[in-house]
Amino acid sequence: MESQARVVIIGGGVVGCSILFHLAKLGWQDCVLLERNELTSGSSWHAAGQIHTISSDPNISRLQGYTINLYKELEELSGQSVGLHNTGGFYAASNKDWYDYLKRERSKARYMGLDQEFISLKELADRHPLIDTSRYIAALWDPLDGDIDPSGVTYAYAKAAKKLGASYHTHAAVIKTNQRSDGSWEVVTKDGTIHAEHIVNAGGLWAREVGKFSGLNLPVQPMEHHYLITETIPEIAAREERLPAGIDYEGNIYFRQEGQGMLLGTYEPKATPWMVGGTPQAFGHELLEPQLEHIAERLELGFERIPALKEAGIKDMINGPFTFGPDGNPMIGPVPGMRNYWAAVGVMAGFCQAGGVGKCLAEWMIGGEPEIDVWAMDIARFGDYASPDYGTVKSSENYARRFLLTFPNETLPRGRRMRTTALYDRLTAKGAVWGDGFGLEAALWYADGADDAHEEPTFLRSRAHDYVAREVKAVREAVGLTEIANFAKHSFKGRDARLFLDRVMAGRLPKPGRIALSPMLTPKGKLYGDLTVACFTDDDFMIFGSGAAQEMHRRWFESHLDGYDLQYANESRRYHGIGLSGPNARELLARITRDDVSNEGLKFRDIRRTFVGMVPAILARLSFSGELGYEIYVEPEYQLKLYESILEAGEGLGLAHYGLRALMSLRLEKNWGAWTLDFRPDYTAAQSGLDAFIDWDKDFIGKQAALAEHEAGPAMKLVTMTIDTDDIDVSNDEAILKDGECVGYVTSGGYAHHVQKSMALGYVPTALAADGTALEVEINGEMYPAKIVGAPLYDPAGERMRG
Ligand SMILES: Cc1cc2nc3c(=O)[nH]c(=O)nc-3n(C[C@H](O)[C@H](O)[C@H](O)COP(=O)(O)OP(=O)(O)OC[C@H]3O[C@@H](n4cnc5c(N)ncnc54)[C@H](O)[C@@H]3O)c2cc1C
Repeated sequence: MESQARVVIIGGGVVGCSILFHLAKLGWQDCVLLERNELTSGSSWHAAGQIHTISSDPNISRLQGYTINLYKELEELSGQSVGLHNTGGFYAASNKDWYDYLKRERSKARYMGLDQEFISLKELADRHPLIDTSRYIAALWDPLDGDIDPSGVTYAYAKAAKKLGASYHTHAAVIKTNQRSDGSWEVVTKDGTIHAEHIVNAGGLWAREVGKFSGLNLPVQPMEHHYLITETIPEIAAREERLPAGIDYEGNIYFRQEGQGMLLGTYEPKATPWMVGGTPQAFGHELLEPQLEHIAERLELGFERIPALKEAGIKDMINGPFTFGPDGNPMIGPVPGMRNYWAAVGVMAGFCQAGGVGKCLAEWMIGGEPEIDVWAMDIARFGDYASPDYGTVKSSENYARRFLLTFPNETLPRGRRMRTTALYDRLTAKGAVWGDGFGLEAALWYADGADDAHEEPTFLRSRAHDYVAREVKAVREAVGLTEIANFAKHSFKGRDARLFLDRVMAGRLPKPGRIALSPMLTPKGKLYGDLTVACFTDDDFMIFGSGAAQEMHRRWFESHLDGYDLQYANESRRYHGIGLSGPNARELLARITRDDVSNEGLKFRDIRRTFVGMVPAILARLSFSGELGYEIYVEPEYQLKLYESILEAGEGLGLAHYGLRALMSLRLEKNWGAWTLDFRPDYTAAQSGLDAFIDWDKDFIGKQAALAEHEAGPAMKLVTMTIDTDDIDVSNDEAILKDGECVGYVTSGGYAHHVQKSMALGYVPTALAADGTALEVEINGEMYPAKIVGAPLYDPAGERMRG
């Protein structure tokens, strides 16, 4: 065994082998994979081998397309058969909701370049004569779907990696990982130790145990999963062509041809976490005892929909474990707070996803950033609230919901109230309908008291619509209060604070007592943050940003700290607070602070440490609503006092509570984008329009790429549109069309209550980005006329927030 390697990958399942292959392919050959047993000895050997492209996240779908398209090349490179059957596959809907869902998937596929089409039920019956099509109302066809041989695929990755110069060792269990002071790792096996620059945890079923070697507690959980294989079915034996693969959402079942019979798998509603306390080291090429009572009802459904299965004998019943993460998506990337430690865990559909995971991780390790935005898979989307127990609870929820519909206005019930503020019970009593982000509860909208706080999941406007309209009206005409604990706060203190931020942020830094907006870019010029930089003194800065992205940003800041004299801290949980917005906000604020808050005393974009509502506070004059606005940050124990002071002072000023939905509506009529939606690493400063905030006179990360694009002009641009609809709005990922051709896609939108228009933001080619351009947006399969609005529909000159 080598004593030195650039990267050691721990785990020889499909994920580890794909990473080894992609690293070698992209030029890092001095990488070694260590497998405790034979390759495939975790969940990879007993997978059902079905492959498909559909995923809740468009970039994951795109990567699933990449994975499937890689198989032929992999076979040629490795000389190892992957048993690929590109039969094509269908997704069948048995009710209107599912049909609408499939239309939305079709819309996404248009801009992802995936080739999905609806086929008639007659066509479905022709392609899969064993299906009872009377159970369905629609079917979406994807020619890429089919099946593969799981062991073949895993070995093909490993063999191809070896041909490219990388190596792997079986029967080489890693028993310890020790970090040296320079950040490199000693990877210990009983037969020797490899000294490596980086390590990758691809431990699959043992990801938790591998994590613990380095003090990392991962919120992943193996779940039991069943599928059955039938004996020969005469109708199949008589066919020349292989049957296509299929997914029946309502039945929560998937199926495909296996030999001359069929394979049928199901995600049963009673999910069974396996080995909650930890995966035994002795477990290997083994299966679990089938729990027929758990899946009987689902099998019944399957037999109804494929009647031939009723007559077929069951040859094999498989129950095997595989690992889920809290939201069902993989957890990959550099682990925040650790050096040179990479995760590739919780990959629950390895044969659809491992190619994409390997590609992104290899690009990230070698080039510093993946080619596309991998936020939906980034391990940094979770924080320490994502405990092992949280992992078990959420993984079970996700397992049971694998093929269930989640509506755009729906929040999932499990693992809630992990993080709350001091106002939680008060706001609940007031009627708050809660959502959670980064484990923290935040009010989405306010009903009339707790008994009224409910909403039906729907694609259409829900009953919340009128309540949100009321909140928006209060902000535009009087004053609204909203909690702002969910914003991230990053602090930078020390001699080099300004120097450091000047390099990391692309925008002009503010002077003491002031605030500035700034994009943060990657070396390739992609957006990595859209942040609010505040300067207290030249050695004391605070950055406000997306709460969801706080660990991602922490990781970024920490990775650039070397050589600077400053202390950085993610202080998001140290400051909660309340935002005030509306024409009466100044009057209210004046009642609870001794500071001069006139337009001269506290100017737009001023910030200071002071006292508000009797408590120490950071007071900033800012606005994401487009109104006169203030943000008051206080330590959590002062939140209740601040709130009570505001309520008391709000008497007679028309004070109302508003939630995130109202905030997202208010910003729409200002043409303002939001992080994780309109602004993310898929786009650049010039494309998003955030180049308006760049200081071109200084040097900063990503300048070269950003300047080149700024001068040449971007190929696409973020635009705001109004859409002619009656009772439905975009959520995101809808296709934008011009003359029937897909030209772009929606990144966010909804109803702008004050201007009373359905609106959306999205990216379109620059040639189509002019004010007034007529376009179409596809929502639930219907085309709606849309028009680009160049200037904000509300207060285009920004007089309200500056006044
Ligand atoms: C019944 C069933 C059906 C499935 N069907 C499908 C399907 O149809 N399509 C699909 O895409 N996916 C399917 N899956 C999921 C798929 O199998 C997994 O997503 C995939 O196998 C995950 O691969 P992995 O490499 O992450 O983990 P694993 O396969 O678990 O690999 C981890 C490897 O790490 C090794 N290891 C652990 N600890 C150490 C250590 N200390 N030192 C060295 N090596 C170590 C293990 O021995 C193991 O080989 C199915 C899973 C099951 C259980």
